[in-house]
Amino acid sequence: MPAAPRRILVTSALPYANGAIHIGHLVEYIQTDIWVRFQKMRGHAVLYVCGDDAHGTPIMLRAKKEGVEPRAFIARMNQQHQDDFARFGISFDSYYSTDSQQNRQLTALFYQRLHQAGHIVTHDVEQFFDPVENVFLADRFIRGTCPNCKTPDQYGDSCEHCGKHYQPTDLIDPRSAISGAAPVRKKSPHFFLRLEHFRERLQRLFETDFVDAASRNKLLEWFGSELKDWDISRDAPFFGFPIPGEEGKYFYNWFDAPIGYLASLANALGAGVDETLEVWQEPGREIVHFIGKDIPYFHGLFWPAMLEGAGLRTPDHLFIHGFLTVNGEKMSKSRGTFINAETYCRHF
Ligand SMILES: [Zn+2]
Repeated sequence: MPAAPRRILVTSALPYANGAIHIGHLVEYIQTDIWVRFQKMRGHAVLYVCGDDAHGTPIMLRAKKEGVEPRAFIARMNQQHQDDFARFGISFDSYYSTDSQQNRQLTALFYQRLHQAGHIVTHDVEQFFDPVENVFLADRFIRGTCPNCKTPDQYGDSCEHCGKHYQPTDLIDPRSAISGAAPVRKKSPHFFLRLEHFRERLQRLFETDFVDAASRNKLLEWFGSELKDWDISRDAPFFGFPIPGEEGKYFYNWFDAPIGYLASLANALGAGVDETLEVWQEPGREIVHFIGKDIPYFHGLFWPAMLEGAGLRTPDHLFIHGFLTVNGEKMSKSRGTFINAETYCRHF
């Protein structure tokens, strides 16, 4: 008698909706697609879901620059991304968006459950603020002189010349990359997920075959020191979901992004939020995330903690891959080795 088919939910990481799909992205989607096709050919019941990560300050600013509403901008990006994936024959069961009604409901539900269980705390955060644009500045929107090697015009988090990492407040002569104005320091309360509450449960997860052995040893280093509270909020103006009951506060897009896997599952099933959560919780269903080596922290630490805290099951596997290089180096726009999916298709 043939074995019963496995029920597997598979995801690829959600591409950010502020730029085109490039061949570096495709390393992930093609390998996931091959794995999904293989499992489907073996007769297993596989759902492959994905979608755009469609919130955040970079998207808000990009839309503003182009003179369109953020929702019009992300709708166009979503179509472009779907066209690019179709060119490479990648077949999703659902390609959705984190800016969906289901994701709004699910995100509010996660927050409510985490809050009620005492996993959310408040701390004051001091950040740079652009007094001309009236916006808090993420690290990449601050430019200034490197405090280490004194190279001018470097980003707020690290120097492209000497590679040194620092705080944006360490920059010499910092400027807003948006308005060019000198930023001011401003304090505001933020909401944090208390990761230390999940230490034992997360460590137990790494005793299973959650990740490959090589990644495990590296990722277990996280537990060598205190797991810092994770800031899940952002101040207005921001493009994303408002935090229910809080004035001028939004969910950080890395909070609602992994919940977007569930929203895309809801879309695949044509189901409401409750039924989708039942499918996620189904005994015996396998949940597998394909991700790049840049985001294990989000998928191995934050996301399982969010799920645990919300009373939901954690994924079974993370498949972590490396990056595509061109001539042994990272793809680079300035070196002319950065290739969009659409360009690649046109020439090959
Ligand atoms: Zn430097």
